[in-house]
Amino acid sequence: MRTKILLKEADLPTHWYNVVADMPNLPAPPLGPDGKPVGPDALQAIFPDALIEQEMSRERWIEIPEPVREALDMWRPSPLYRAHRLEQALGTPARIYYKNESVSPAGSHKPNTALAQAWYNRQQGIRRLTTETGAGQWGSSLALVGQMFGIEVRVYMVKVSYEQKPYRRSMMQTWGAEVFASPTDMTESGRKVLAEHPDSPGSLGIAISEAVEEAAGRDDTNYALGSVLNHVLLHQTVIGQEAKRQLAMVDDYPDEVHAPCGGGSNFGGIAFPFFADKAAGKAVRLVAVEPASCPTLTRGPYAYDFGDSIGLTPLMKMHTLGHDFVPPGIHAGGLRYHGDSPLVSQLHHEGLVDAIAVPQLETFEAGVLFARTEGIIPAPESCHAIASAIRSARECAETGEARTILFNLSGHGHFDMAAYDRYFKGELHDYQFPEEALKESLAHLPKVGQG
Ligand SMILES: *Cc1c(COP(=O)(O)O)cnc(C)c1O
Repeated sequence: MRTKILLKEADLPTHWYNVVADMPNLPAPPLGPDGKPVGPDALQAIFPDALIEQEMSRERWIEIPEPVREALDMWRPSPLYRAHRLEQALGTPARIYYKNESVSPAGSHKPNTALAQAWYNRQQGIRRLTTETGAGQWGSSLALVGQMFGIEVRVYMVKVSYEQKPYRRSMMQTWGAEVFASPTDMTESGRKVLAEHPDSPGSLGIAISEAVEEAAGRDDTNYALGSVLNHVLLHQTVIGQEAKRQLAMVDDYPDEVHAPCGGGSNFGGIAFPFFADKAAGKAVRLVAVEPASCPTLTRGPYAYDFGDSIGLTPLMKMHTLGHDFVPPGIHAGGLRYHGDSPLVSQLHHEGLVDAIAVPQLETFEAGVLFARTEGIIPAPESCHAIASAIRSARECAETGEARTILFNLSGHGHFDMAAYDRYFKGELHDYQFPEEALKESLAHLPKVGQG
């Protein structure tokens, strides 16, 4: 029986797949403060033309530039594994496969889009990028590719993570990026937050405000976002395309595809190429897995909201917990975002994508079982997909059904060992969902675009 199913470098996909071409309805447009759809010019202060074009494209296939493909082969194609040992431990007749995105130098799927974004910016003469990072995965991915393409990178890192995850910061600095604990006193957005909350621990929404403000105010600087936007999900579709070919090599096809879902990029990346088949009538279940304490798809309304806390971004129609919602401090930092990808949100709203929310302790329990059977220590974010896949495999153990289950191992957890320590010491909890805080933040949804 095969364990690793491998593609050759020459098998790297030649195109990205744009799910918009197969959606039953066109995506709801982003809106400006006046409630009117924003045109490409509204984005030109912070993004290069090619990425704006991809953001709005309806073309099914978009060619991957040759230099991007050549650079992606540093870690791609990534291996697909059959999880024999996990199957055995669960006593399940299900066949479990996982795509291992932890093999990139930064340790997650995020460099797949960082690389493409850096290349397009460089093509347009940009030599400086700003961004935000929460847990540090995105900041390290952009720092890595900045080095590859000669682009200076400045990262606004959420203050609590800056203090709790010093090695992610060292990683970014090793790859030559500047890293600041956000909120800073370097931007108007940061100063505004600090004036009201001098001890603010920061949030992804605040750090985005700082990075966008700086990029919008400087001609030589653009901004890069690690998730949520259409072009980001587009770049991640190499994952699902490879997985489909790899499964075909062993004559298999998934009944279900599970991925952790924060802003939706690794979920879209693995699931959308299968959505193409679903749109053509194939039965395949696509499951976005989120934390019970930040349940954007499962509990948040589908409504227009800002992407950042201060309200600098266009309004996007998405499942949201409200732009000033501050989720509990769970250890899957990459899943603590108030909103979600507009594409994933719309497909979920239309009943084409499923979502489930899993409590924190169950995710760590799943992660530890995975590490003890398959060997790889998963990122706390990835543990959400593992937990969901395990739920399904256990159902199969009861019914005797031999489903094919695919999940995305979005990253490894080598910089998250403090979280595992706390789990083993019994210090981690299942946070009560903050119903009151949600009500409060939903009351602040912008008034434009609703209804
Ligand atoms: C950032 C991150 C996520 C969540 O982000 P998405 O955009 O939803 O993919 C999941 N897993 C890992 C390892 C991450 O770094």
